[in-house]
Amino acid sequence: RMKDLAENMTTIYGIGASPGIVIGTALLIEPGNVVRKVFIPADAVSSEQDRFHQAVCRAEKNLRRVREQFASVIAEYATIIDTHILMLRDDLIFKRSLEIISTRQVCAEWGLEQALDQLETVFSQVDDPYIRERFLDVRQVVDRIFLELSGADKLPDEIDEKMILVSRDFSPEDIIRMRGRRAGFLAGMGGETSHSAIVARTLGIPAVVGLKDVCDRVRSGDQVILDGASGRVYINPQPDFVEQYRLRQHQQLQYTQEISRYAFLQSETSDGLQVSVEANLEIAEEVDLALQYGAAGIGLFRSEYLFLSRKGLPQEDDLFETYKRLLAEVSPFPVTVRTFDLGGDKMFMQRPDNPTDGSSSVPQWPVEANPALGLRAIRYSLKEPALFEIQLRALLRASCFGSLRILFPMISSFCELQQVKAAVMRVKKGLKKDGFDYDENLKFGLMIEVPSAVAVADSLAPEVDFFSIGTNDLIQYALAIDRGNEHVAHMYEPLHPAVLKMIQQVVQAGHGAGIEVGICGEMAGNTTYLPVLLGLGLDAFSMHPYAIPYIKRMIRNSTAHGVEKLVDHILSCPSSIEIREYLLDYLPLHYPDEFEHH
Ligand code: PEP
Ligand code: MG
Repeated sequence: RMKDLAENMTTIYGIGASPGIVIGTALLIEPGNVVRKVFIPADAVSSEQDRFHQAVCRAEKNLRRVREQFASVIAEYATIIDTHILMLRDDLIFKRSLEIISTRQVCAEWGLEQALDQLETVFSQVDDPYIRERFLDVRQVVDRIFLELSGADKLPDEIDEKMILVSRDFSPEDIIRMRGRRAGFLAGMGGETSHSAIVARTLGIPAVVGLKDVCDRVRSGDQVILDGASGRVYINPQPDFVEQYRLRQHQQLQYTQEISRYAFLQSETSDGLQVSVEANLEIAEEVDLALQYGAAGIGLFRSEYLFLSRKGLPQEDDLFETYKRLLAEVSPFPVTVRTFDLGGDKMFMQRPDNPTDGSSSVPQWPVEANPALGLRAIRYSLKEPALFEIQLRALLRASCFGSLRILFPMISSFCELQQVKAAVMRVKKGLKKDGFDYDENLKFGLMIEVPSAVAVADSLAPEVDFFSIGTNDLIQYALAIDRGNEHVAHMYEPLHPAVLKMIQQVVQAGHGAGIEVGICGEMAGNTTYLPVLLGLGLDAFSMHPYAIPYIKRMIRNSTAHGVEKLVDHILSCPSSIEIREYLLDYLPLHYPDEFEHH
């Protein structure tokens, strides 16, 4: 490892996705793209050559393993891999790199990069297009060596305490595997409401996302401080700086313990306005956590995550058991299960192509240029009624075991709602015919997260029992800002007047029809936005479990009268800049307990 590169501390700034401080060692899960030229002393040449040699050996070993796995499935693939294995040792790659390392006294990465450049020139001069294209194979082979040289690794089976994992992106499955450890992660992609950020928050795993080029800036083995609240990442800090941070870490822990006293207090303003504070869950096993943090029910169960932990399609009986257990555990509080919100950035990890119940199979997902505007959520469910009805049957059967509310994601029109209702009717009939019971009083609600649904909220409201505003998507669609895109993440603005007015419109439409209006987007768990949302008249707030005590304390320190006045003022501001400025002055004045700690 070239120590001189990392002697001084560097700080990089990202988006604080999940609070908490981790002081630990970086582990790169994916290599960077930038190859740096690092000179090495003459006496380090042979060890650098050895490092290169070892990387080639590991690449070869991995290729042989891949060959074994695939040879029986695709015979031609085995031949390709055999060619790649031979290429690893080709003079123009192997010998040439070793030569460059010693003659120019450079690091192995640079030697390999130079050898590759020379090869590219040779290939580009060949007339035969077929041979020219073989350069792609060379590139793939060389990439494998780069990967080995970088020390990048697959997610380790055992994640050590105090390890900071680094990659361009992490799947929810990866993050679930970090659960229960003191690890944290840095991701190149993403924004505050990207799904990796949401899962990290629910599981309490500190994370910073939206760190462009993070894989080029952090190397495996670097000492790193990750501050998930501020979004700051310090690489190779000085010891005294680390000590300061340990102190801060300790203070944060104490503060968290202190705040937990609020978990079980009523969520009521000091002048008597009652609202409901509930938890968002991605995996059913986290239900204890939600209750422990004082949730008065599950306001959003993202049921699509059930797909992540299994290979095939979920079967009705499995789903029934899961929902039944969840309902029983949370009873007498309600559980709001959202039907599968698949598509968009929530794709199957392993596409279920083999039906496990012998019925219809799930078709391959189409390749979409704009998945967020594509076959997602309720659209997919209506297109694949068999899968949708399996889930609805399981849910209705489970409804006898607690207080269930069913929530439909991404409804964009009245007609769509009618189709959903027709599906529910079919399922009810089928269950009656098959002799199954269900709760006749079970409630149905809509996610309001598409601007068209806001516009027609008054005609949707009389058709259902409740609304739940999904601001993560509503903001994305209203402001045309991809919620997972780090390049526009700074424009993702919950305080945009358009967003606030939409929330107001939905609350008015819902209350006009006498139904409850809640919010389950990430905004709901953020103390900065709480007074505004409370003032807008929302009845229920659902959030990641750790936020509950903080939000409860904010509610208890509010008055209905005060937050209404705040909202009156804010809604008269023409821009989010004014709103934000006003709010940042307002908060420490009205909530000194909350805003002096930060
Ligand atoms: C939302 O869109 O605000 C929401 C709660 O759902 P998800 O984040 O799962 O899309
Ligand atoms: Mg959504």
